[in-house]
Amino acid sequence: MRRRIVILGSTGSIGTSALDVVARHSDRLEVLALSTHSRVDELVEQAERHRPAVVAVTGREPTEAQRARLSALGVKVLLGDDALVGLARLESADVVLLAVVGAAGVRAAVATVEAGRTLALANKESLVVAGSIVMSIARRTGAAVLPVDSEHSAVHQCIRSGQRSEVSRVILTASGGALRDMPLEKALRATPAEALKHPVWSMGQKVTIDSATCVNKALEIIEAAHLFELSSEQIEVVIHPQSIVHSMVEFADGSTIAQLSPPDMRLPIQYALTYPDRCDAVAPRMDFRKAVRLDFHPPDLRRYPALESGFEVVRRGGSLGCVFNAASEVATEAFLDGRILLGEIHPIIRATMQGHAVVDHPTLTQLLEIDESTRRAARDIVRQKAYCVTPEVAAKT
Ligand code: NAD
Ligand code: MG
Repeated sequence: MRRRIVILGSTGSIGTSALDVVARHSDRLEVLALSTHSRVDELVEQAERHRPAVVAVTGREPTEAQRARLSALGVKVLLGDDALVGLARLESADVVLLAVVGAAGVRAAVATVEAGRTLALANKESLVVAGSIVMSIARRTGAAVLPVDSEHSAVHQCIRSGQRSEVSRVILTASGGALRDMPLEKALRATPAEALKHPVWSMGQKVTIDSATCVNKALEIIEAAHLFELSSEQIEVVIHPQSIVHSMVEFADGSTIAQLSPPDMRLPIQYALTYPDRCDAVAPRMDFRKAVRLDFHPPDLRRYPALESGFEVVRRGGSLGCVFNAASEVATEAFLDGRILLGEIHPIIRATMQGHAVVDHPTLTQLLEIDESTRRAARDIVRQKAYCVTPEVAAKT
């Protein structure tokens, strides 16, 4: 029996890599459904190639011509806000790969685990926003939540070398992003074009900017805490420029297990889609016939102050993750539009967090409301420059 895969966000960076994995393992995997927000032509081409039963378009109306091409394929089309949830609940789905960007993925994550389906999770934001809810529903329904994020996939793989109670620490590696080697003062004023030039990974815009500021790593700290039930003291971050060691787990006896592979998202995607089996490599392998150099150094918190906020979210919990994420989405958009400097992204997140009264055990409805109200608050903060710090000061706080 082939596994039927739903790919939410199939036109993105993760989505297209996932389609490559599925196509190369057509004996084990088949595409059941695909979605896009606005790249409808691309979605139609994907549908022609991969023959899903259903597709969803969440951000716009397809044109008559696009509809005609889809109907010629006999593909059912879902539109609008509830379309992702509709795909997540498809009766015949085995695995839902959640590869949309942002808090837009939260309701689909909840729907997937509620339906008892395996959730292959690239969308870290859904755990940052609603991790307690998603994980507790998954425990109740028995749905597996398998990380696609390379660091969490590495932890998932390493953690199997011992008992869960024997884990002492998880060490998340970070590339340091596009501006890692730029002098700090200059990095804080970097342009979007400079920040988008990631040295190792080719990814969507949000996650690439987040890599430059380590907001991505902060999101991943929170994601790891939920996935592996870790306290903030059990998570560490280390800068590893080569992105070959994707993360590590240290056990009680002091043994540290690492997962290594050349940077290519198709490996963690494949691992999540075929788990617990491992099958033939789609991504390249390590070549130790050449010299391989691996460097590790502690992160400079003046360059990456977002890391501290990530740990704070893990310590405080409740609705704070939702606020961190919403503020980061608003600030990144403002940076990409040229309204703020790169070094102002984190001060905006801080100011938004400071203005929020944390709700300890929010419901999903409350979180979706907090997401909305936080976006409004963060936009006001951007407009009024209410974070009140120059980037130089921000770097020192
Ligand atoms: P991307 O921007 O390349 O693609 C995003 C996808 O989501 C597209 O298919 C788009 O149509 C869809 N989308 C965008 N906005 C949407 C909305 N409001 N509602 C529904 N669908 C929407 O992003 P990406 O780089 O593929 O990242 C996807 C997720 O995977 C993110 O959560 C990211 O943090 C995570 N991730 C990505 C990588 C990577 O290598 N790209 C690595 C690790 C984790
Ligand atoms: Mg990652």
